[in-house]
Amino acid sequence: MLQNKAHLDDTPVTPPTVAPTASGLSLPPLQDKFGRTFDYVRIAITDRCNLRCTYCMPEEGVEFGHKDTIITTAETLRIIAVLAKIGIKKVRFTGGEPTIRKDLPQLIAGAAATPGIKGVHLTTNGLLLHRMAKDLLAAGLTGINISLDSMDADRFMRITRRPGVETVLNNIQLALDAGYPRVKVNVVLMRGFNEDELEKFTCYTKDHAVTVRFIEFMPFDADQIWGTGDHFASAETIVNKIKSLYPNIGPAPGTRTEHHIFKVPGWAGKIAVIPAFTRSLCGNCSRIRVTADGSIRNCLYSDEQYNLRQIMRAGGSDDDMIALFRKAFAEKAIDGYESKKLSDAKGILDTTQQHRGSMTQIGG
Ligand code: SF4
Repeated sequence: MLQNKAHLDDTPVTPPTVAPTASGLSLPPLQDKFGRTFDYVRIAITDRCNLRCTYCMPEEGVEFGHKDTIITTAETLRIIAVLAKIGIKKVRFTGGEPTIRKDLPQLIAGAAATPGIKGVHLTTNGLLLHRMAKDLLAAGLTGINISLDSMDADRFMRITRRPGVETVLNNIQLALDAGYPRVKVNVVLMRGFNEDELEKFTCYTKDHAVTVRFIEFMPFDADQIWGTGDHFASAETIVNKIKSLYPNIGPAPGTRTEHHIFKVPGWAGKIAVIPAFTRSLCGNCSRIRVTADGSIRNCLYSDEQYNLRQIMRAGGSDDDMIALFRKAFAEKAIDGYESKKLSDAKGILDTTQQHRGSMTQIGG
């Protein structure tokens, strides 16, 4: 149990009590038929965002879920408590842009206070962080990933269709100064967009104790630019560029997702490369996704849907929810390629599926 340092407002935050199942407290962990154990949940708490990134959604946005379909504070904390019973230890709040949800501090505090949860993380575009940085840390946040694809104001505007590069850069520094245990900068590296900023981003790790993570571009852009085929830069290409820039670079410790991770000797931070499209990390997959409207996704590339919200709102028990998670992961494919193939084969008319073309609909 994480020490819950402070409640942010005087509304007591107590994790929902989960009645022990017939087999008592400890339940078998969540695994798939390939023996992988899933102990990390990414929960999207909104599909809305205050940016319009070209690799995610168009200016006019996408088909956002009706507000009544978005999982509530209590439902989100119940999902976390139920998952903790089957071995989930790490929670990441994502979106859309999670900092637009007013109850974010309460969600973080509730997750941090949930028995079994060891780490609570946030992925944000950083634009609003200065309004809540201290509160989120006090609530028990143990790590923050801030998305920033360019350090150049004009290019930032071109990629996100909004201004704000200085605010994000200042908020990264704010997170460091506030003492966030882990600060990471997510950079979607795209040819013809920001590829030439690779060196600038790597140099940022010289004096800043952050992990700069270069993420491969993925086809969840609501059919905007992926189709042009010009912008994909592979993890292999990125790694080779980094090694050519820093021949003395060495390996460094990182998470399962940080498939390639390095450190330039004597520098404060680390550099990682994530093959999110190449999908060479699937053998180590440990992640569960829950969408903002309460659907379980057993893989980023699968359109298969398991409606948790329906079970909760129909008065389903915690065991019913656990059964749905077990079903979802019993049906998980061996990797992201197979997931995509199975979904394509089933076709979008299959009612168990819902194709979500934008990352904001899936959950970053
Ligand atoms: S592509 Fe699917 S299986 Fe592979 S790491 Fe991502 S979520 Fe896991």
